[in-house]
Amino acid sequence: MMFKRCPGIRSLVEPQIIIRRCPFCDEEIEFFEYETHLTCPKCGRIVYREPSESCLSWCEYAERCITDLESRGLINKDRAKELRKFIGEERGSR
Ligand SMILES: [Zn+2]
Repeated sequence: MMFKRCPGIRSLVEPQIIIRRCPFCDEEIEFFEYETHLTCPKCGRIVYREPSESCLSWCEYAERCITDLESRGLINKDRAKELRKFIGEERGSR
């Protein structure tokens, strides 16, 4: 069997591992690239590989999360800036 036409299969065979730090307890968590979220083995909270725009608006750890992603090179400066715009946008109105 040949998979020459399907470049996507490579990531299934050899998924890239992405290390993130749990924003709640600082535990290091290994994500496979196809996983968007995992339960932290230490504190049991759900950790997202990349924070969604909706979670940034309420999560008190959003800033930490973005800084972690940025420092690991998982998102670039522009993306980090974009994501930071969502932090506290709705919080300010309470
Ligand atoms: Zn944790």
